Amino acid sequence: MATYLFYLGVGPFERLNAPTGKVSMSILAPAGRSGEGQRALEVARAGLEELERYYRIPYPLPKLDLIAVPEFPFGAMENWGAITFRDMQLLIAPSTPAGEMRYTVATIVHEIAHQWFGNLVTPSWWTDIWLNESFATFVEHKVVERRYPELKSVEDFLSIWTRWGFMLDSLPTTHPIVVEVGDTREVNQAIDRLSYGKGASVLRMIEGYLGSERFEAG
Ligand SMILES: [Zn+2]
Repeated sequence: MATYLFYLGVGPFERLNAPTGKVSMSILAPAGRSGEGQRALEVARAGLEELERYYRIPYPLPKLDLIAVPEFPFGAMENWGAITFRDMQLLIAPSTPAGEMRYTVATIVHEIAHQWFGNLVTPSWWTDIWLNESFATFVEHKVVERRYPELKSVEDFLSIWTRWGFMLDSLPTTHPIVVEVGDTREVNQAIDRLSYGKGASVLRMIEGYLGSERFEAG
């Protein structure tokens, strides 16, 4: 296990357990708010099942915790078996608008997709970190499209990620998808929306060329 995937959380968390399944799955929320995690727990369970089908490899750990962290500075982080989310990404009121719901479902599936791409298989050095984000973004949309076709994830992929790829590539500051990293202090410069958008769009092109069956078979 790569050290950047280790997580230790301390705080007055409250746990909401999924009732069934071979993987023990829970939402951990600030005290008094675990009930708001019910929808996320359902999405995570469905996403995990669909990802196991897509990868054809069982989820490798006995448990998966999804942890809502107030004021978490990023959308989410894919720590192995203990994914952290900004609380508003995970704790969803039943009245949440459809547009926001799409983003929440995509974020949950994206982070669980990393449990294979990035965690089970980790680049040996940061130069290849684009593979983590490109594959997680690509697979996230495949899985959301299959499980929640009403969310029209493919349209989101094209209008968000492919558009970002084209837009950033049109700027003088564009760079190759693969960025050489010499020192760990350079990692944040090696990963940006181009890594996600153009990287995932190139994977989609390769899938289009090979056909999804051959692509998924490896
Ligand atoms: Zn990611």
